[in-house]
Amino acid sequence: MRKIAVINQKGGVGKTTTSVNLAAALSGHGHRALILDLDPQAHASLHLGIHLGEDDASVYDVMTQRSSVADAMIRITPKLALLPANINLAAAEMELASEVGREFILRDALDRSYLDLYDYIIVDCPPSLGLLTLNALTAVDDILLPMQPHYLALHGLSQLLQTTDLVAKRLNTDLRLAAVLLTMSEPNTRLCAEVESDVSEFLQTASAVESPWQHARLLDTRIRKNIKLAEAPSFGQTIFQYAPDSNGACDYDRAAKEIDALARVDSESNWCSDAA
Ligand code: ATP
Ligand code: MG
Repeated sequence: MRKIAVINQKGGVGKTTTSVNLAAALSGHGHRALILDLDPQAHASLHLGIHLGEDDASVYDVMTQRSSVADAMIRITPKLALLPANINLAAAEMELASEVGREFILRDALDRSYLDLYDYIIVDCPPSLGLLTLNALTAVDDILLPMQPHYLALHGLSQLLQTTDLVAKRLNTDLRLAAVLLTMSEPNTRLCAEVESDVSEFLQTASAVESPWQHARLLDTRIRKNIKLAEAPSFGQTIFQYAPDSNGACDYDRAAKEIDALARVDSESNWCSDAA
């Protein structure tokens, strides 16, 4: 089983769109995938047409041990499931802040939940590096970093890498930045080319020094800007349900194949150690 956190503390870079459609693509390839909505905005849940009330079982109830994962989980398709969120999750940061082992609450909840049936758990993180994201970082092995080509795309990355480094040293030695995915890309623009070359150069330099991002890959697949990807959530559908012939569906399908291939290359130890 691969547990992947989709993280970038920058807002609006395509984390939720990536979490939902990547998981859907993986399920379309025959894998059992679980989307874990770890954002109090509940955008991944809403994207899938799930609007929870405050009393419905959610990831918040799982983290506060009021509900089991099995009771809170919602089946979307035979191979795709969702552990949904609602606004209650906003309280979790404060409520759990004083708990002993507060960074491991999610990991422990997943560990007791017999999730071995799943091939992929994809965690959609909020746009911050608070306690929820910290819980994601201790619960997963791999980080997928979606990045929007923007002149400040790498700005703020050092903070994320510093947090990753600390977590990898102190809390989760398996943690690594596995891959960077360029989202909302406009091919053949100068901006895209510049960001691509900045990211490649950064990863090239990083590959010489031991760190949790030493073997990180820039995925070959670029997610192109595609209006269908922005429309699909209003219909509560993945891109494969809403517009299976769109560029968006094609790109996420390719990204999923790439991620799955990386996972297969080195499934015994870590899934990207061949990348240097
Ligand atoms: P937040 O930080 O608020 O959680 P996010 O990083 O999860 O945001 P998304 O919600 O996935 O980002 O995307 C931000 C907006 O951009 C959404 O309206 C989404 O529909 C749109 N969007 C994402 N990817 C694309 C794309 N490839 N083409 C066009 N629109 C996109
Ligand atoms: Mg989001």
